[in-house]
Formats: sequence, structure tokens, C-alpha cells
Amino acid sequence: MAELVGPRLYSCCNCRNHVSLHDDVVSKAFQGRHGRAFLFSHAMNIVVGPKEDRNLTTGLHTVADISCADCQEVLGWKYERAYEVSQKYKGRKVHI
Ligand SMILES: [Zn+2]
Repeated sequence: MAELVGPRLYSCCNCRNHVSLHDDVVSKAFQGRHGRAFLFSHAMNIVVGPKEDRNLTTGLHTVADISCADCQEVLGWKYERAYEVSQKYKGRKVHI
């Protein structure tokens, strides 16, 4: 999970590694495992794990867990592919 640390910057909640920019927020209306989550068009200083198919509340998606490159804390996941047409916009986006 990431948190807003400045007016335009999100960081790892564990080690403060900068992982995303406010300008890259696509949507703030998402729920994550630990509460509120954000959808980013781009993230940095992260490690992307292996892809897997996962059944989410919005349908079947191919996702990959993403972790902080510094402390390995799992921050969220990246949408590699959405099967539902209405969810296609999430493709390649990062959910933190
Ligand atoms: Zn970290």
C-alpha cells in the first residue's frame, strides 16, 4: 500500500521509497486489501512478480503482484490483462 507523502508524491508505507506520482493517478475509487487503493498509469522503484489469473470483484484479470524495490513490501498489483470488456481500461495499470 502506498501513501501520499507530499502534494504530488506517493511512497511505500514501509520504507518511504517513492513509488508513484500524483499525476499518474487514474482513479482513487478503488478498494484494496487494506482499504482505499489507487489506480496508477505508471509506478517506479517497484518489482513486478509473476503473472497469474485472479478472480477479482470486477471479474477475471491477469495480474502480477508488485513489491517495493527497496524493502520488498507487497504494495499492490499490476493489471496485465482484463477479460471483461468494461474493465479493459485497467490493462497495464498499477493498483496500489
Ligand atoms: Zn518499501
